[in-house]
Amino acid sequence: MIAYKKVTKAIEEVASVKCDKCGKEYDANDLETQEFQHIKFRGGYASVFGDGEEVECDICQHCLYEMIGDFCRRTGQHNSRLSTDRQS
Ligand SMILES: [Zn+2]
Repeated sequence: MIAYKKVTKAIEEVASVKCDKCGKEYDANDLETQEFQHIKFRGGYASVFGDGEEVECDICQHCLYEMIGDFCRRTGQHNSRLSTDRQS
């Protein structure tokens, strides 16, 4: 027989998210936090970030759009996935 006991544990949850570019901070319940992009990668050999350097940043949608909005490709994947979902 296994005996159980009650324990109280502290957990961490997101309280807010702050854009590393503009510094604007959003509450965890704000819809803007769903649109953040969390970038994390490791630079390779001869990377401009440094050999093997690990890089991270959190960028709000407004700053990301400002940075890549002029040349990024919009693939339309969201719309095609929705039409596929309706067929099944
Ligand atoms: Zn920003």
